[in-house]
Amino acid sequence: TCGFVAIVGRPNVGKSTLMNRILGQKISITSRRPQTTRHQVMGIKTEGDSQFIYVDTPGIHILEKDRNKAINRFMNQAATQALRDVDCVVFIIDRTRWTPEDQVVLERLANVEAPVILAVNKVDRLKDKAELLPWLESVGARREFAAIVPIAAKHGTNVAELEAEVAKHL
Ligand code: GDP
Ligand code: MG
Repeated sequence: TCGFVAIVGRPNVGKSTLMNRILGQKISITSRRPQTTRHQVMGIKTEGDSQFIYVDTPGIHILEKDRNKAINRFMNQAATQALRDVDCVVFIIDRTRWTPEDQVVLERLANVEAPVILAVNKVDRLKDKAELLPWLESVGARREFAAIVPIAAKHGTNVAELEAEVAKHL
């Protein structure tokens, strides 16, 4: 089997870090500066007779009012294209913070037919783990998610569990 997996989320949530963690090599550029990845980065992971093609999707967060700039238009189109034929979407957000850009990404996913898995990243930064549960409930109410998985991409925490959820949709 072979499946396409789009990784989406606003800048700086950890998309590239997750890609690198899953693929086990530095193929995606990570940075403190947002929008280091202007182009789509793809990576293939083979496991047994399964192939997962991961696509890091920049530009999906761009607000309607900013879409007329050429670079934004280009990135936004690429993001839309990437979502057309995927088998699964991993939507990444930062722990206990919901921004207008997260909302834009969520809205862009409204017409996506593929299952969307919510990955709540950077849980290592949570001071109080008890914050997580009410947060997951409030975000989980925003749309139907195939699964909600707290992770720390930088440290690999729970990333295998996330991959297992993805594998269900191939
Ligand atoms: P992208 O813009 O969504 O691709 O985000 P990056 O992967 O470039 O990550 C942005 C920043 O968040 C970098 O400084 C990463 O090291 C950091 N980061 C990513 N994942 C984690 C995590 O699980 N925990 C912590 N503490 N930082 C993370
Ligand atoms: Mg990136």
